[in-house]
Amino acid sequence: MKPLIGITCNFRPEKGWNVLARDYARSVEEAGGIPLALPLVEKENREELLQLVHGLLFSGGGDIGSFHYGEEPARLQGKVYPPLDEHEIYLASRGLEERIPLLGICRGMQVLNVAAGGSLYQDLGEQRTGSLQHYQKMPRPYPVHTVFLAETSLLSRRTGETVLRVNSFHHQAVKDPAPAASVSAVSSDGVVEAVEFGGSSFAVGVQWHPENMSNAASRRLFQSLVKAAAGKQLE
Ligand code: MN
Repeated sequence: MKPLIGITCNFRPEKGWNVLARDYARSVEEAGGIPLALPLVEKENREELLQLVHGLLFSGGGDIGSFHYGEEPARLQGKVYPPLDEHEIYLASRGLEERIPLLGICRGMQVLNVAAGGSLYQDLGEQRTGSLQHYQKMPRPYPVHTVFLAETSLLSRRTGETVLRVNSFHHQAVKDPAPAASVSAVSSDGVVEAVEFGGSSFAVGVQWHPENMSNAASRRLFQSLVKAAAGKQLE
């Protein structure tokens, strides 16, 4: 059986919809996994949901409430949906604890960092001078800025790259990496663009959207997740 990769859904409170952009599931399938969309569930069912999967993919989305990293909201903090924050932070902290192979994308990377005790810039423009354009005005598949990968990082070993051109759709970013996280990539302005956690065979967060890009490095990210999840399945 192919490994099951649980993908966290986004939520539209005004519609009452769990939503998930198709490219996440498509990328998991292309890498040889079976995608399983994880909706918002009641608190008492989260653990069982988690036990179903061999790997986790934390998808992109809106902002995480600054409350979760001990800050009052900045003026430009965006839309927050508290139940989704709580749900994803639970899955992330338990996923890290259980050493489930996982990949966080954009908000997903931020969720991993916050769940592990790190903090975020609530708005790069407002709180961090000299930042590049991190919310690009080009369509999603096109890379807008460069990231430099830490040479010994898992990210660099898995992608086989030390420099990547990536897309960018975020106004928040990791400020203090969680104690258990190491920074595996930064952009030229010093913004954290990827983090990774030891312990599991694959626990990486990237600030860009590899699911929307079609280069080899993006494919290798999903393949690394699926491969690690296949190992987890055999345990
Ligand atoms: Mn960026």
